[in-house]
Order: sequence, then C-alpha cells, then structure tokens
Amino acid sequence: MDNIRELYQQTIIDHGRKPRNFLIMDNPTSFKMGHNPLCGDDLTLFLKIKDDVIQDISFQGEGCAISMASASLMSETLKGKTTTEALELFKKIHNMLLDGKEPDNIGKLTVLAGINEFPARVKCAALAWRTLEAILDGTDGEVTTE
Ligand code: ZN
Repeated sequence: MDNIRELYQQTIIDHGRKPRNFLIMDNPTSFKMGHNPLCGDDLTLFLKIKDDVIQDISFQGEGCAISMASASLMSETLKGKTTTEALELFKKIHNMLLDGKEPDNIGKLTVLAGINEFPARVKCAALAWRTLEAILDGTDGEVTTE
C-alpha cells in the first residue's frame, strides 16, 4: 500500500465525515447553490468578501463524502485569500482533477489529486470549486456540473 495515497484517502474520509466550516453563514456577501445530478450532491456555498479578500467561507449541503471533503478542504484553504488568488487556485484544482498532475503550492489540496483515477467522482470533487468560480465570476443562476 502506498503510504501517501493512504494518507490522502484518510484526509478525504476525515473531511467527508466531519466537514469544516459546515454552517449557514450570517450576512454573507454572496452565496450560491450547486448541484451534481450525476451523484446527487447538493451544496450551498457562502462567502464574505471585503476589499477583494475572502474574509469568511462556509457551506451547507448533502452529498457523498468526496463532495463534502472537497468543499471542506476548499473552505479551509481560501480564508484570507484574494479573489484573484482564489480563481487561480480554482484553475489549478480543476486541471488537477482532469489530468491527475499535482501542481505546486496547493498545500493539503494535493489530497484531491488521486480522485482523477475515479472519473465518476471527479464531478463530486469539482462541485464546490465550480460553485466558487461562478460566485467569483458573477455568473447568474444555480451551478450544475452537467
Ligand atoms: Zn458525489
């Protein structure tokens, strides 16, 4: 058994079972719902952005362990980042989920790299990130991975 892979899996299981920042935010500056109909994952992402910096981030929803773990890991990573940095991170993670290559400087988000080996679960992991992108881009309406 590959120790790194095992560690990655444990981190995802831990975040899937006990998602961080899993709450409805009071007075968010923006929020958006996202759906992954393929798996049945639903989440609402809440952001508090001030002076172009993500002051706070949380989410609520129901879905598989991977969708919840990805949102949880994302929420831990984005606090204090500028919206430009957050969009750059979105692009890195999105590419990583598609090609499985780990980019530099993404910290614990590397645990999501292995999901590339399970094509049916890539959209589960991408859901929170696609929802984030839609908020930052100002895209109207609900987000769907289909
Ligand atoms: Zn899922």
